[in-house]
Amino acid sequence: MTVSRIALALLAIGLVAAYFLLDPGQYLGGACGGQLFSLDCFNSQRSALHDMVAANGLIAAAAFFGVYVLVTALSVPGAAVMTLIGGALFGLIEGTLLVSFASAIGATLAFLISRFVLGEVVQNRFGKKLVALNRGVEKDGAFYLFALRLVPVFPFFVINLAMGLTPLRTLTFYWVSQLGMLPGTLVYVNAGTQLGQIQSLSGILTPGLIGSFILLGLFPLIARKTLAGFAARKALRGYDKPDHFDRNVIVIGAGSAGLVASLIAATVKAKVTLIEKNAMGGDCLNTGCVPSKALIRTARLVHEIRHSERFGLHTANVDFSFADVMARVKSVVATIAPHDSIERYESLGVDCVSAAARVIDPWTVETDDGKRLTARAIVLATGAAPFVPPVDGLAEIEYLTSDNLWDLAELPPRLAVMGAGPIGCEMAQAFARLGSDVTLIEQGERVLSVEDEDISAQVRGFFVDEGIYVRTGHKVVRVEKADDATVIVCDTEDGEQTITVDRVLVAVGRRARTKDMGLEDLGVVVDGRIAVNDRLQTNLPTIYACGDAIDGYQLTHAASHEAWHATVNALFGSFKSFAVDYAKLPWCTFTDPQVAHVGHNEQSAGAADIDYEVTRYDLAELDRAIAESAAHGVVKVLTVPGKDTVLGATIVGEAAGELITEFVTAMKQGIGLNKMLGMIHAYPTLSEANKFAAGEWKKAHAPAWVFPWLTRFHALRR
Ligand SMILES: Cc1cc2nc3c(=O)[nH]c(=O)nc-3n(C[C@H](O)[C@H](O)[C@H](O)COP(=O)(O)OP(=O)(O)OC[C@H]3O[C@@H](n4cnc5c(N)ncnc54)[C@H](O)[C@@H]3O)c2cc1C
Repeated sequence: MTVSRIALALLAIGLVAAYFLLDPGQYLGGACGGQLFSLDCFNSQRSALHDMVAANGLIAAAAFFGVYVLVTALSVPGAAVMTLIGGALFGLIEGTLLVSFASAIGATLAFLISRFVLGEVVQNRFGKKLVALNRGVEKDGAFYLFALRLVPVFPFFVINLAMGLTPLRTLTFYWVSQLGMLPGTLVYVNAGTQLGQIQSLSGILTPGLIGSFILLGLFPLIARKTLAGFAARKALRGYDKPDHFDRNVIVIGAGSAGLVASLIAATVKAKVTLIEKNAMGGDCLNTGCVPSKALIRTARLVHEIRHSERFGLHTANVDFSFADVMARVKSVVATIAPHDSIERYESLGVDCVSAAARVIDPWTVETDDGKRLTARAIVLATGAAPFVPPVDGLAEIEYLTSDNLWDLAELPPRLAVMGAGPIGCEMAQAFARLGSDVTLIEQGERVLSVEDEDISAQVRGFFVDEGIYVRTGHKVVRVEKADDATVIVCDTEDGEQTITVDRVLVAVGRRARTKDMGLEDLGVVVDGRIAVNDRLQTNLPTIYACGDAIDGYQLTHAASHEAWHATVNALFGSFKSFAVDYAKLPWCTFTDPQVAHVGHNEQSAGAADIDYEVTRYDLAELDRAIAESAAHGVVKVLTVPGKDTVLGATIVGEAAGELITEFVTAMKQGIGLNKMLGMIHAYPTLSEANKFAAGEWKKAHAPAWVFPWLTRFHALRR
């Protein structure tokens, strides 16, 4: 840092320090000592100040202007009060002019001081990290600054100093600041003119003053709306908005998200068109939740029959053909399909179109038969497809994914499942139970890595007991064909390892379906998933997205939850919009035993720096679980330290997906473990596990000092 920079910094610090140390207010007396820039001080000096303004308005205005510039330039607290005083002393017009120029000049001086003293140092030190920020400021800096000025979320002095460290041009900073602060200045100065008229306490309730304060309260809201309007106009610039729309909303994709989105629109009497290029119902019905759960059910039955001795049966033979099992899976899908059919949705008021859709402009969608439809808003619910990693040789084999798995004609004798997330784990266990030799390959250190380590370890233990080869820390680097078999080459800590199998199921993640949809041409941001804000709006404000197509939970109920938000915001967002909130969203992995989860676990609480206590209840002790020969698993609850407030729960066990609902209700309705303990649970049910977990918490928090007294009390009473 050069000498001149150090000198300026010292001068600025010195002036601020002098203000606080010398306390100029004390010389005025009254209420000004220690709080020069306060309404109390102003009120105590009001008549003298009014006399000064009356005697020599020009000098008074110049003095006010000078002090205002100094206060803002040095970032001394008091600008807001001075704005009110400006209104009280000089009236609306003159006060606004004085404050508007003084605040803009003062802010620009603060900006320049910050830039001169620290700008170069910061850019030199953090230059690489600031590249994106600098680029953003160069492109849209004026707009960001305008937004910050209009909606006073951050204190203005912070904005002045921070902007000084960016490459924003000084002139731009000056005029945008002056313009952006003007509405707020007007509202504050106006409130100040009313303050000036208060002579007594009863004067506080004048309609003018009340009006000014209402304006003050409403200002950020109006400013935010105005800004959103500006941003929308900016994003939509260059497109011809149709004069009229054919419908209110177009939904693309009839999976879990699109079905709910269109249903909500139809329910609130909006004209809605739902476009689907494949089967209605999307992944959940056709290739996801429904077929997988149907397969898991049969696999469980096979497993139970094979282990019938646990239930006291000597002989029970299982004889089945894989083709029949898959036929049952298909028939389950077919039985549910009418729930999601075109006929049903048309009867509910949704206009259904079978076609591939492409977005032409922010209001127009084109179907593959060349028809163009317009709507005020578009909801993208196009889901996600299995991600196939670029592993050498993988493309040369007929690998399986959750898309084509359901057409499998024969049970693979040896199956490798790549990826130990929920889909990989569910399918690995189902195929193992049906008779495949399954190897579950995971490059990370554990299965179900979103769960806590102890939960992952339990699941791994169950898998190993059932004969699944669990290979964690195995990164698939190559796949080779060997006669009729496939050799998977993995990189591991112990060097390369090979696994020979007949088929490979790839379950390593999913990618949003955005191809050939025209989104890139429109500049809709897609970064693996379609990028949205918390209102589920893309960077083009008429286009919303929900479900697997956006980042977040890849679950059917999450897709429905998002679809509600996307549709309501698309239809009514100009009046009121809703931010999507995932705080109490449960999920369940349908392995056996199931793993269900809501809220925080230790892993997520740790990452979010949230303090917690853990309570565990072991299902081995639960009567009903023992009767079911399913006495394994745990209820694990996280609570606020010293309180019974539930932060989250994980359940491993029979019907865990059903049991978790009690914790979802508890968290949503603010029911603590004490109340849960007080609720009567039917005996013998699995749900008692939740109550017993609450009991474990209670035991750990019982006031120990009471017991010796109780012992004495009862001894006396004998
Ligand atoms: C094997 C498996 C098991 C699962 N199990 C569960 C579970 O137990 N519980 C759970 O909650 N979730 C589960 N899921 C996840 C669940 O299936 C998804 O979260 C859910 O289907 C997402 O719904 P969506 O509407 O976002 O997308 P999708 O269901 O994928 O629907 C998107 C639809 O958009 C259509 N489409 C795409 N592009 C266009 C276009 N340009 N024009 C017209 N139409 C288009 C597609 O054809 C598709 O039908 C599972 C997923 C899989 C793969």
